[in-house]
Amino acid sequence: MHICVIGGGLAGLTAALRLSESHEVTILERGEVAGGCLSSYNLPAYAIESLYHHCFSGDDRLFSLLEECDLLSDLEWLKGSTGYLVNQRIYPLTTPLQILRYPLLTLFEKIRLGLFVLGSRSADPEVLDSVTAKDYCIERLGDRIYSSFFEPLLSSKFGERKDEVSAAWLVSRISIRSDRGPGGERLGYLKGGYIRLINALLSKLTATGCRIEMGHPVVSAYPDDGGWVVDGTRYDCIISTLSPQETARICSVPLKPLPYQGAACLTLGTPIDPTNGIYWVNMGDPAPYGAVITHTNLVPSDRYGEHIVYIASYFSDSPPENCENVFLSDFCTRFGLQREQILWHHLRIEPNAGPVYVTGYKTMMPEPNPVPGLFIAGMFSIENYPERSMEGSIKAGEDIARRVMEWSYI
Ligand SMILES: Cc1cc2nc3c(=O)[nH]c(=O)nc-3n(C[C@H](O)[C@H](O)[C@H](O)COP(=O)(O)OP(=O)(O)OC[C@H]3O[C@@H](n4cnc5c(N)ncnc54)[C@H](O)[C@@H]3O)c2cc1C
Repeated sequence: MHICVIGGGLAGLTAALRLSESHEVTILERGEVAGGCLSSYNLPAYAIESLYHHCFSGDDRLFSLLEECDLLSDLEWLKGSTGYLVNQRIYPLTTPLQILRYPLLTLFEKIRLGLFVLGSRSADPEVLDSVTAKDYCIERLGDRIYSSFFEPLLSSKFGERKDEVSAAWLVSRISIRSDRGPGGERLGYLKGGYIRLINALLSKLTATGCRIEMGHPVVSAYPDDGGWVVDGTRYDCIISTLSPQETARICSVPLKPLPYQGAACLTLGTPIDPTNGIYWVNMGDPAPYGAVITHTNLVPSDRYGEHIVYIASYFSDSPPENCENVFLSDFCTRFGLQREQILWHHLRIEPNAGPVYVTGYKTMMPEPNPVPGLFIAGMFSIENYPERSMEGSIKAGEDIARRVMEWSYI
């Protein structure tokens, strides 16, 4: 069989890897580099993801893939730390002691919060798909704890759509992020960056004879005599890893659109640590971005010779106007940096940064094989519910490859 994979992100690359041993596979990728959301900037001295990335202790499919690529021994487990910027001050909120010292909640509220987190870890996300995270929190914790603790978190992940997000997302997030010891959360990062995984996958694919066409944005696909024609070339079937709405547009199939959001992320290098040793700072004060993530407070800065900072924001329709300048000037003022201390910066606007897990999302997810010969998998798949991740997209890619194999035997 000749299979066309649309999209060279993690889902497309893993699906292609699983199929290319026994089938002819062509990957068509719009961008000039592979990796999709996990692609990197190749700077003169090092490579760094254009969107912040770390992994979690339960990411078994990712670990297997790293092992297959001889990279697992380079996966490091590092201490992640978090904080809130409120009233122009960063409050560290990583360890139980720091949470106890947090002055904006009373002791009673902190005990309630602790019990809520413990309870949410064992809650069943399935039954919470129809409840908003906001209502779930307010009912159990009251307005004050919600607005001072969970609202900034929801805001940093979903921007203006925060009130629509389901409690299923929140409880699964709490359970993923609970791998904590007294010193903080354990987060995984691949020494040298995840670009090494993408490059290893590309080498493996090339070795199996897979054809990879970068800089090829697919514009049209239609069924033809039991197969599919994609941009003029005939294939026996297609795997599309694009959002359902993009696949529907390109392939003229009736797939219901899913709520998606975009991300605007400015990455910069600076000699200064702007967040006082904290990796992830959510903005509690109103700001044009939702979080400031100092990568070099997770991975030591001496590996890079400078600090690497992400200024991140999600948007629903179009990116904030002039966001490069707006982000930079707000960041410099708020975090006390001079403009000359920004050594370099790059902006990435990713229109398809992931689904918004609104209430009822579970019932909206499309079938993996909606019409004959067309298979779909990616951030919108069940494997990525109720939070998209590298793990989920690898699983989605591998699972769709299995479906294609079963279909090819029929
Ligand atoms: C800001 C951000 C931070 C994240 N942080 C983490 C993290 O810390 N940990 C974690 O586990 N996960 C994280 N993720 C999620 C993770 O990156 C994704 O789940 C995963 O990389 C998605 O892979 P994918 O292949 O499903 O989709 P994508 O990576 O979106 O791949 C789709 C590919 O299709 C290509 N494409 C689009 N249109 C066309 C077309 N018409 N023709 C051809 N090609 C096309 C795109 O260029 C892209 O390469 C993050 C995501 C974002 C956006």
